[in-house]
Amino acid sequence: MRSGCEECGKALTFNEIGAYKKFVNRGSTSFLCRTCLAAKLDVSVEEIDRKIEQFKAQGCTLFV
Ligand SMILES: [Zn+2]
Repeated sequence: MRSGCEECGKALTFNEIGAYKKFVNRGSTSFLCRTCLAAKLDVSVEEIDRKIEQFKAQGCTLFV
């Protein structure tokens, strides 16, 4: 598995990988960082962070 953002090459956090799986493709093996994911989905990075917090609160195992 590749360890950096597909778009900018930045190192990815566990939650960024989780966010990509959650929002784009659960089975994906390449991922985007929060910044690039937000751009791709046409939302703000804050929106991504808020969603991650929501999923965490729901007990989603893709996030820590
Ligand atoms: Zn990126």
